[in-house]
Amino acid sequence: MTKQLTSNNALELDQQDPLARFREEFYLNKNSIYLDGNSLGLLSKRAEKSLLDLLDSWKTLGIDGWTDGDNPWFYLSETVGDKMAPLVGAAPEEVIVTGSTTTNLHQLVSTFYKPVEGRTKILADELNFPSDIYALQSQITLRGLDYHDHLIEVKSKDGHTLNEDDIIEAMTEDIALILLPSILYRSGQILDMKRLTKEAHKRNILIGFDLCHSIGSIPHKLSEWDVDFAFWCNYKHLNGGPGSVGALYVNKKHFGTMPGLAGWFSSHKEKQFDMEHTLTPADDAGAFQIGTPHVLSVAPILGSLEIFEEAGIGQIREKSLKMTRFMKDVMIQELDGHGFVFRNPDEDERRGGHLYIEHPEAARICKALKDKGVIPDFRSPNGIRLAPVALYNSYMDVWTSVQILKEIMDNELYKKYENKRGVVA
Ligand SMILES: *Cc1c(COP(=O)(O)O)cnc(C)c1O
Repeated sequence: MTKQLTSNNALELDQQDPLARFREEFYLNKNSIYLDGNSLGLLSKRAEKSLLDLLDSWKTLGIDGWTDGDNPWFYLSETVGDKMAPLVGAAPEEVIVTGSTTTNLHQLVSTFYKPVEGRTKILADELNFPSDIYALQSQITLRGLDYHDHLIEVKSKDGHTLNEDDIIEAMTEDIALILLPSILYRSGQILDMKRLTKEAHKRNILIGFDLCHSIGSIPHKLSEWDVDFAFWCNYKHLNGGPGSVGALYVNKKHFGTMPGLAGWFSSHKEKQFDMEHTLTPADDAGAFQIGTPHVLSVAPILGSLEIFEEAGIGQIREKSLKMTRFMKDVMIQELDGHGFVFRNPDEDERRGGHLYIEHPEAARICKALKDKGVIPDFRSPNGIRLAPVALYNSYMDVWTSVQILKEIMDNELYKKYENKRGVVA
């Protein structure tokens, strides 16, 4: 870096920010700077409104809310799925809002993992989120197989990132299915989904992605890349609220495949209330629903998606990249010698929506930050994730947070806290 960065740079960047107006749409705490939107996105006024509207439909319509009102509950999972599809680059009928990340994983792996003689293994990676790994282990166990030799976890060379070449090398003849994250939850690395899908298909292996950290933060082209299936949660970058309903994508070419885990909401809509004991599944991604939708936990997503539609995922990604770059540059300038190590890939194409830094005192540095009004995300044992979110954070938020961190480090303010994680961290 040649030029010294100052708060004026932040000010200028904020003045030129085409997304600046969206900040007012969110409930921001005046006394703190929220940098944890990759774990739980904030409430927007529009999400609040869509939730209250649906609550009102229950109040005023009772049972008729299933078919009447502005957003009939019976079709809600489909209509919200249609609106979400552009964010993953899919056709409307390929996306359905349902379940949670982990239950959708179970549904899709139950459906698409078909071990046959000589092709019985699942390929994953050793850096994935534990829930995904637990689910895969149990899926393998359910088939009467031993996951110790049927779940192959690609190793990371540096403990933080994966090399696509290593993943491709592990796509051997005995692999039936591949499941990988789009963006690694710790280091924020973006995997090359297009290339991995192409290589998997060359070897006749089905491939799916967990989009938890990429939905709402980067654009996707699932249909164009020919990804077989994907799933995600909507409470991180998508701001759907705590425990908000997740979503899944199934490639058109798999329509008509019987859901591994069926229920009456897997039904074709016209047939569902015939109450027959033979399931006629929906002829699109709707077939992968199971039971009655959690209407009130879908509701906020409706309002939130309006914001994404107006802002455009392209502009969101552009600002997000600029913010993480600015944050890193300011940190390098201001925190030199304090022992922070950046673990993100540095290149734009491989860097997701958050920064990941490590420090031996991370747990108590995070506590000190919180007490000083900066909300980070601690990842045991020594990681700090910082997510400046395009829709509601400003460049000045970034500048101020780093100044507060500098004050904590210069004065060793973290030393008055215990270096231990909390129950939820
Ligand atoms: C957030 C996250 C989950 C959470 O799963 P839930 O079923 O929503 O609790 C799972 N996997 C990954 C990769 C995540 O980032």
